Amino acid sequence: MTIRLRLTLWYTALLGATLILFSVLVYALLAANLWTQVRQNVVRQADDIVGLLTQQLLRTQQLIVIRDSGFGFPELDLFTSGAGAQVINADGTVYMRSENLGEMVVPNYRSALDQIRQSKSHIYYTKNPKNIPFLVYSKPLVVNDFVLGAVQIVQPIDSVENTLNQVSRYLILGTALSLVLAAIIGALIAHRALAPIGAITTTAGGITRTRDLGQRLEITDQASEVGQLAATFNDMLDRIQKLFDTQERLIADVSHELRTPLTSMQGNIELLQRMVAAEHSPVQAGGNKGAVLRETLSEVEQETNRMTKMINDLLLLAQADSGALQLQWAPVEMDTLLLEVFRQTKRMADLRKGPGALDVRLGHEDQALVWGDQERLRQLLLNLTDNAIKYTPEGGTITLSLTNEEGWVRISVRDTGIGIQADNQAQIFDRFYRTDKARSRELGGSGLGLSIVQWIAQAHKGRITVESATSKGSTFTLWLPESHNQSSNQSAPNPTWAATNPLQFNSAYSQSPADLPK
Ligand code: ADP
Repeated sequence: MTIRLRLTLWYTALLGATLILFSVLVYALLAANLWTQVRQNVVRQADDIVGLLTQQLLRTQQLIVIRDSGFGFPELDLFTSGAGAQVINADGTVYMRSENLGEMVVPNYRSALDQIRQSKSHIYYTKNPKNIPFLVYSKPLVVNDFVLGAVQIVQPIDSVENTLNQVSRYLILGTALSLVLAAIIGALIAHRALAPIGAITTTAGGITRTRDLGQRLEITDQASEVGQLAATFNDMLDRIQKLFDTQERLIADVSHELRTPLTSMQGNIELLQRMVAAEHSPVQAGGNKGAVLRETLSEVEQETNRMTKMINDLLLLAQADSGALQLQWAPVEMDTLLLEVFRQTKRMADLRKGPGALDVRLGHEDQALVWGDQERLRQLLLNLTDNAIKYTPEGGTITLSLTNEEGWVRISVRDTGIGIQADNQAQIFDRFYRTDKARSRELGGSGLGLSIVQWIAQAHKGRITVESATSKGSTFTLWLPESHNQSSNQSAPNPTWAATNPLQFNSAYSQSPADLPK
C-alpha cells in the first residue's frame, strides 16, 4: 500500500470517526431534549386537568351521579391544547373525550388500568390505525384517597419523530459528504506533500538508468523534512560522485603509471632476447655486449624498484584511507630523529649526486618531544629530504632545522632547488600530481610521496606547509603539536580519522586542526 493511500485512509478514518461520534452525540442530546419536553408537556397537561377535575368534583359533589357502573363526572371543557385527552373511570369506561380526538379510539388505553388502580401514573407509546405515533400518559384521578379513574393525555409525537428523522438524515448525509471531501482533500494534501519524494525516486531511477551521477534534486523548501531529505540525498550524490571520480582517476593514474615501466621492461627484455638470439646466430653481435647487458638489466631493475615503491606507497595510502593503518604511538624525540634523518640524507645525496655535490646542513635545532609514530615520522622527513635531493641541482644546499614555538614543533626542510610555481603549490599534495611528469619519472618519483607526507602529518594532528619560488628553492615546513609529557600515558590522536575522509585521492587533505598556527 502506498504511503499516499495510507495517509489518505488514516486521515479519512480519523475524521470519519470524529464526525460519527459528533453526530451520534448531537442526535442523542437532541432526542433526549425533545422527549423530555414532550413528557414534561403531557405530565403538565395531565396535572392541570386532574387538578381542575378534582377541584370541581369536590365543589360539586352533589352533582355526581352514582350510576351502576361507578361515578359520573361533571361536564368539563378543558381540552383545548394540541394534545387529546380523555377521562376514564377505574374500569376503563371512557367518560369524557376532548373533541380533537374525534372518532379515534385510543389504542390499548386499557393497558394502563392496572397501574391506575394502584394510583400510579403510566406512559406508553402507540400508533393509531393511520400509523400516527402517540404517547399516552395516564394520571390517576384520586379524590379522598379513592381512585375514581384517570386522565389520559394522548400526545401525537409524529412531529418529534419527523424532526429526529430529519436531523439524523442530515447528520448521515453531512458525515458522508464530509468523508468524501476529506478523502479527496487528504489525497491532494498527501500528493502535494509526497511529490518531492516522487521526484527523488525519479532522479534516483534516472541515475541508475543513465549512470549519470551529475543529476541533482531541485530543493524548493529547504526547511521541510522532504527538503532536508532532498538536501541529504544531494550531499550523498556529491560524495558518491567524488568517490566515483576519484576511483576512476585512480584507476587511470595507476594504469598509466604502470604502463610506462612495463613498456620499458618489455623493450629491455626484447633487447635481451635479441642478444641471446644473436649469440646463437652465425652473424655475431658486435663489440661491447657485456656493457649493453649490464645497462639493460640495470634499467629493468630500476623499473622494478620504481614499481615496487609505487605499489608500496599505494598500499600505504589505501590502508590509511580505510583506517587499517595502525600507528605505533609513543613519545618521539624529534631532535634525535632529525639528526638521524640528516645523516641518512647526507649519505643519500652523496650516493645519488656524488660526494659533496649537495651541501646538506643541519640548521637551528631545539630539543623537542612529540607524541607519535617514530617510523612514520621518519618516513615523512625522508620523503621531504628525498624530494629536496631530487629537485636540487648540484652545488645546491639542503638545510634541516627544528624550532620549538609556543607548543608547536616546527621542522623545515629547505632547499635551493628548482622551486615550485605558485599555481602548482596547492596541488603537489594530490596523489600522482607532479609538476613535471617526465622529470619526476626520470628521478624515480611517482607523485605519491607528498600525499603520504600529508597523511602522516595530519594523522599526528599536525600539518605541512610549503613556500617556494621557481629557481630559488622550496621550504617544506612540518608543524606538530609538542608533547610535554615524558611518559607514554598521553592519549593518542585517533589514527583512523583519515578513514572518515575517503575521497581525498588526488585532492589535498582539506581537514586540518583549526588551532594550528598559520
Ligand atoms: P614525486 O615522486 O614526483 O617526487 P611527490 O608527491 O613527492 O612526488 O611530489 C609531487 C611533486 O611536487 C613533484 O613531482 C615535484 O614536481 C614537486 N616537488 C616536491 N618536492 C619538491 C621540491 N623540494 N622542489 C621542487 N619541486 C618539488
